[in-house]
Amino acid sequence: MSSALRVIPLGGLSEIGMNLMVYEYGDAAVIVDCGMMFPDAATLGVDVIVPDMTYLFENAEKLKAVFLTHGHEDHIGALPFLIERAPLPVYGMPLTLGFVKDKLDEFEIEADLRPMQPRDVVEAGPFAVEAIRVTHSIVDALGFAITTPLGTVIHTGDFKIDHTPIDAKPTDLARFAHHGELGVLLLVSDSTNALVPGHGPSERTVGGALDRLFSAAKGRIIVTSFASHIHRVQQVIDLARKFRRKVLLVGRSLVDNIETAERLGYLRFPREVRAGSADLLPRETVIMTTGTQGEPSSALARMAVGEHKQIEIEKGDVVIISARTIPGNERAVAHLIDNLYRRGAEVVSHEQPDVHVSGHACEEELKLMINVTRPKFFIPMHGTLRHLIHHARLAESVGVPHGVVITNGQVAEIDGESIRTLEDRVPNGKVFIDAEAEEVPEVVVRDRQHLAEDGFVIVVVAIDSMGRLVREPEIITRGLVHVDESQDVLEEVRGELAGMFAESPPDELRDSDLLQERMRALLKRYFRKNMGRRPLILPVIWEM
Ligand SMILES: [Zn+2]
Ligand SMILES: [Zn+2]
Repeated sequence: MSSALRVIPLGGLSEIGMNLMVYEYGDAAVIVDCGMMFPDAATLGVDVIVPDMTYLFENAEKLKAVFLTHGHEDHIGALPFLIERAPLPVYGMPLTLGFVKDKLDEFEIEADLRPMQPRDVVEAGPFAVEAIRVTHSIVDALGFAITTPLGTVIHTGDFKIDHTPIDAKPTDLARFAHHGELGVLLLVSDSTNALVPGHGPSERTVGGALDRLFSAAKGRIIVTSFASHIHRVQQVIDLARKFRRKVLLVGRSLVDNIETAERLGYLRFPREVRAGSADLLPRETVIMTTGTQGEPSSALARMAVGEHKQIEIEKGDVVIISARTIPGNERAVAHLIDNLYRRGAEVVSHEQPDVHVSGHACEEELKLMINVTRPKFFIPMHGTLRHLIHHARLAESVGVPHGVVITNGQVAEIDGESIRTLEDRVPNGKVFIDAEAEEVPEVVVRDRQHLAEDGFVIVVVAIDSMGRLVREPEIITRGLVHVDESQDVLEEVRGELAGMFAESPPDELRDSDLLQERMRALLKRYFRKNMGRRPLILPVIWEM
């Protein structure tokens, strides 16, 4: 058994989403976070994307526990898919575990959930894992100091250094510095804003911006933010109270999250601020809802096209989108905003100053984290390759030259004196899950993309026992070409197919697998060369 520390990312180090990190020493391993990712417009019929966890299932006997940094979907969303096959104790702060519990209940999975508080230390095999409070765009966010036989690893989680957070519980810089003083072997840090210079604004600045918007609004106010952003929800509730409005919650994930947060004491939602129904005067109403990313099924998107059964967008409404647009969703959000304007609403989005602030550390905050922890080695996490590389350069600029950029499935091995990247990757990738929580194989998703982009072609040939064509090949297409243009094309394809059959030697003509492959190749070449299209091709052979 080797006495090296192995750092194995299974997700989140090639993309922003589906974070999953494994720390392994000898025959023991702990997992930090187990997140999912939302599909983009090209991943048709897929509900969520989770990391390929084959490595974990193959090494199940090594796994000691899962530690969760915070309750965002990109950190907890894949947990049911892990726990269902590898039941492990799951540690996290109460709100994080509250969200996890709701999720597990949905899947009807039981789990051993163990709450921890900042500065608590949990022993797991050869590891001692200490929770360290950080600020982020959700309450109860943690970083971890993982003590291993070779030294301490600091895993920051998603963080920013907000000196005036809403709950007055700032990032525990003193504790990070404490570990820095004792000696940190490795820092693994959030790269989301590694390309954003300066220091990010405090969450508190959003309160000022929202206050100005509330004070100016004559009609109804509709606010959308991430359902898990409890501080933002609290800010809206407090402002509603100040401006004598009532808050109506619309959207299931929002209602569920707020119930959980309230039950655990993270949110004050006084009775007199609650709206019982939608029929209040516009100037008395605040609606909080979901749909910051323009998701077509969200409440706001349905309101924007007049398909929501409860709420209709009217002239005079002010819609505040208090969240960033996740890369890839720009078009959906632009579409949503246009639909809202079409119905006479005014839309204020994150492009206006202080309507939303990022929950992630910018360059100067990242440098501060590197400086207080003073690590020997550095691995950037939570980002695309570009983010990771920039973050490693940032570390170098503050005197940590041993930054190692690894991506999903790559293994960084530390023996105490040196760090190296292993040649072979462990299994990694994306697993697609549909609305029924069933896995959708990648080939199915690829076929759907082909179908959506280039349509399909079915070719039916009827042959006799000698392999000769009995009649002209039949060609059926959908979503491929305009019918009027297609007649010439189809004629030409039929001609080429007939030619192929005429030229093939008799023994080849009796091998229907070979023929099918030939037909597919011929059609593929034809459509690519003549039309620049790559339709899905289904050859069918009938032996008469
Ligand atoms: Zn987060
Ligand atoms: Zn994250």
